[in-house]
Amino acid sequence: MDIPRIFNITESAHRIHNPFTPEKFATLGTALRLEPEDRVLDLGSGSGEMLCTWARDYGIVGTGVDMSQLFSEQAKRRAEALGVADRVEFIHGDAAGYVSSEKVSVAACVGATWIAGGVAGTIELLAQSLRTGGIILIGEPYWRQLPPTEDIAKGCLANTISDFLVLPELVASFGRLGYDVVEMVLANQDGWDRYEAAKWLTMRRWLEANPDDELAEEVQAKLTSEPARHAAYTREYLGWGVFALMPRRCLNQA
Ligand code: SAH
Repeated sequence: MDIPRIFNITESAHRIHNPFTPEKFATLGTALRLEPEDRVLDLGSGSGEMLCTWARDYGIVGTGVDMSQLFSEQAKRRAEALGVADRVEFIHGDAAGYVSSEKVSVAACVGATWIAGGVAGTIELLAQSLRTGGIILIGEPYWRQLPPTEDIAKGCLANTISDFLVLPELVASFGRLGYDVVEMVLANQDGWDRYEAAKWLTMRRWLEANPDDELAEEVQAKLTSEPARHAAYTREYLGWGVFALMPRRCLNQA
């Protein structure tokens, strides 16, 4: 079981597989007021940077589930490097339907909401692992500027404009699902460059090491087109953020 090989190639050198930087994850950890021994579940945990650094910096304990064998191995190595291998566990597997045996303080899906069919389904899945008073984290793209044409949406690698919402609508949509938005940390264009531009050097070096690979042509084509595509579309039109949610309380009416 694995994700398509092209992602394991282009993102093999990434510690963070989304437009967040280490500083943004630190800001988010502080914003959530994490306490030592808080349990954190992370579905689509990638190379484990969020859980490993939060274990080091805030003393959380965590479980990550990810379908990429390479990223899961990298996550385990990162945990050892940061001295938190006893606090975080990484499971290589499909996160679809994953519910933790013990309830958690923070249940997260940061940039992988397709695992449960979109934002609403992923919130529903995460809620099953959440303790009372816990926080759900959703990392999701939104339109920084609404694309004026469908071609521009495709340039951002969306299928259609309606794949994403503008920020006020995305924030309001959480309310309609019955959740208070209690915090948010947003990526910026520099963060997009870290995520996207880091793939280019990785691809270039991979091509030098693997000139005869069956994916070499595809990787070269990507390396040729991606910098201009990113500069024209993703960088300008797409935003990305992590939203912290708590189930809305039913207030007693006098
Ligand atoms: N949250 C991580 C990774 C985000 S990228 C970070 O912030 O760095 C999306 C991740 O979802 C990738 O690591 C990919 O391997 C993983 N993924 C994709 N489909 C999955 C599935 N069905 N179950 C678990 N992980 C999945």
